[in-house]
Amino acid sequence: MAITGIKGMNDILPAEIAVWQYLEASARRVFGCYGFNEIRVPVVEKTELFKRSIGETTDIVEKEMYTFADRNDHSLTLRPEGTAPVMRSLIQHKLFNRDPLTKLYYMGPMFRYERPQKGRYRQFHQIGAEVVGADDPRIDAQVLVMLCQYFAEVGITDVSLQLNSLGCKECRPAYREALISYLASRTDALCEDCQRRFQTNPLRVIDCKAVGCNSATADAPAMIDHLCGHCDNHFHAVRRTLDDLEVDYEINPRMVRGLDYYTKTTFEMVTNNLGAQNAVAAGGRYDGLIQELGGPALPGIGFAMGVERLALLKGEDSQLVEKPALFIAALGEGAQRVAFILMTRLQRRGVRVEMDYAGRSLKAQIKRADKLGAAHTLIIGETELAAGAGVLRDMTSGDQEPLALSAAEDLLVQRLVCSRIALDGALTTRL
Ligand code: ATP
Ligand code: MG
Repeated sequence: MAITGIKGMNDILPAEIAVWQYLEASARRVFGCYGFNEIRVPVVEKTELFKRSIGETTDIVEKEMYTFADRNDHSLTLRPEGTAPVMRSLIQHKLFNRDPLTKLYYMGPMFRYERPQKGRYRQFHQIGAEVVGADDPRIDAQVLVMLCQYFAEVGITDVSLQLNSLGCKECRPAYREALISYLASRTDALCEDCQRRFQTNPLRVIDCKAVGCNSATADAPAMIDHLCGHCDNHFHAVRRTLDDLEVDYEINPRMVRGLDYYTKTTFEMVTNNLGAQNAVAAGGRYDGLIQELGGPALPGIGFAMGVERLALLKGEDSQLVEKPALFIAALGEGAQRVAFILMTRLQRRGVRVEMDYAGRSLKAQIKRADKLGAAHTLIIGETELAAGAGVLRDMTSGDQEPLALSAAEDLLVQRLVCSRIALDGALTTRL
């Protein structure tokens, strides 16, 4: 029996790749405008890194990590998210010494042992961005503006930005106590998980999807009503800056992120179009994380977008799929030989060209050119070969014109490369 892939870990097939490459290229372009540089970190880290950063009592660390012992009995974990590894690298290489305001982005696979369903997988991909070195509220706003611009540029419009503040180590402990005592008087209504965790991770209860927990916490105290002066001012300044920049957002006082390191501004980009998986992107400020991981006391903020969810929302877009500029339909041995040489020369000069190798009929070859979406077909039969001129067919209009084979290479490069550049230009402006 053939060996299959692992449940929840998907192949991204050639038919889907155009959207993925488009989403990735758009991130590089948009993030680049804001001064972000790419960083690539390994997919495996010491387990301790995630325990210390994400938090021992979070869902991710408690039940979602792929953790294993290597041959030396070291505990390693497939990264469940990107922020902790990027911060580990930043500290290890002292990136903050090169630039006091470090702006990084990353993209790649993440791993969580979850129940696979639409928009939720065991290997999934994130595109994320991080800014380290400033707690200025304008930085929070800038990160959010960049996130919104990304969605607008890739044409995903049916999303909304939700904002909250989770306070800091000054104000959160008191709020946490207030929440625990609120929950303590309602434990009967909570789900089994929350009954167990409301003392250790009370914020998770607010976020719990169970109906009982949801109604039991309807009037629970909200963090934004318990912020200290500093966090309150910070949150107001973020909101004011977003208003200045005409960025739409909603305040969601119930939004609690599932990772312990978040402080102050937190946010999610949500949609109604993905069923239960309503978050497409999420992030927030993590002012204590770098110090917690053994680095200097530098503040940071970032987000991660789920690429599978972005791709589901974007849907298929045939305009994004790269198609051959030319198909050469050649009949007979002599014409096939000329065609193969011409095709290779054109490919060497940057034109996307295809031909047939199976000696099919002209009709079958043109059918294949059509199926591949070739913009033009150059027909070279025995007669054309003898006359030294093929027939160039525009596959959209059906117009045909003779093309001297001796000059074909230069003429085609000129025409097809130029139309390619025009198409790219049109795509970039349209998007
Ligand atoms: P969710 O509430 O859907 O479980 P999360 O809060 O665990 O999301 P984050 O850790 O904030 O997600 O990750 C950021 C983004 O990564 C999410 O908004 C989502 O788009 C994507 N993501 C997270 N987990 C998965 C997964 N298992 N499969 C696919 N995408 C995921
Ligand atoms: Mg999750």
